[in-house]
Amino acid sequence: MKTPSRLRRLPALATLVFLPLSAADLAPVDAAEFARCLPSDAKVERLATGLGFTEGPVWLPREGMLVFSDIPKDQLLRWSPAGGVAAFREPSRNANGNTLDLQGRLLTCEHSGRRVARREADGTLVTVVERFEGRRLNSPNDVVVKTDGTLWFTDPEYGLKTNPATKQREGKEQPGNFVYRHDPATGATTAVVRDFVQPNGLAFSPDEKLLYVADSGSPRHIRVFAVGADGRLDAGRVFCRLDLGGPDGIRVDREGRVWSSSGDGVQIFHPDGRLVGRILLPESAANLCFGGPDGKTLYITARKSLYAVRASVTGAGR
Ligand code: MG
Repeated sequence: MKTPSRLRRLPALATLVFLPLSAADLAPVDAAEFARCLPSDAKVERLATGLGFTEGPVWLPREGMLVFSDIPKDQLLRWSPAGGVAAFREPSRNANGNTLDLQGRLLTCEHSGRRVARREADGTLVTVVERFEGRRLNSPNDVVVKTDGTLWFTDPEYGLKTNPATKQREGKEQPGNFVYRHDPATGATTAVVRDFVQPNGLAFSPDEKLLYVADSGSPRHIRVFAVGADGRLDAGRVFCRLDLGGPDGIRVDREGRVWSSSGDGVQIFHPDGRLVGRILLPESAANLCFGGPDGKTLYITARKSLYAVRASVTGAGR
């Protein structure tokens, strides 16, 4: 049961803003390419800490604020420069990944809700998708929207409880951990990839001809698929492997680079898969998004904290 007093404590987190890390936390590998991604004097700032496990950042341009998830604390939080951290929705049904649809409505993957939900303009929540072929989803993790209005989301099993005796996930109804395409216009849901171990973050290339999907299970790599005009994907190939931790949330910038969360913070990859460099954090990152008034602030959710760093580019798509 969440008490009002708990909510009142949240703004106190804002007093922890601006703990600047040093520019030495930027680690170029391809210096010339890295210089196109981040200003040489960019500083990583910790905007808030003392949280549970942060995920799912999304910038809301109309409101001028960031919304992100604290999964174990069952909260959606918001952050703005003036207001710091405050509650946005609680309980959140263990919300994870968030994005906006073409109308600017918040779409949220819910672990314990086992659905993708949409927040209407009046604040009410509706279920967008919760079943595939008559069976409940596992625990939707992350979602992106294509410019044709379709939702693409991943459904690993992280949100299902593990039976300590059998080590099996309880309540799993799907035969696998799939990547899905959902068309809100028709209600049709299609499994577009079925062979991931734990599909996680996903993002389209700027021209939407490619879809990148992270596998945070044992492969710990990002795969890339060609997107057909009919919404089908080709067989795909491995785009890159993470050398520290697994890839969780990923974003693509306007110039086609892939920015991936990693065990050491954020790793940036050239469109050909080469590592461009790293943003090093004291905590493992789980997700990231571009935002701010000009779209060139990178917000990073990393375990118990929220970080930000100014970038030289903005994100592709939503
Ligand atoms: Mg994720």
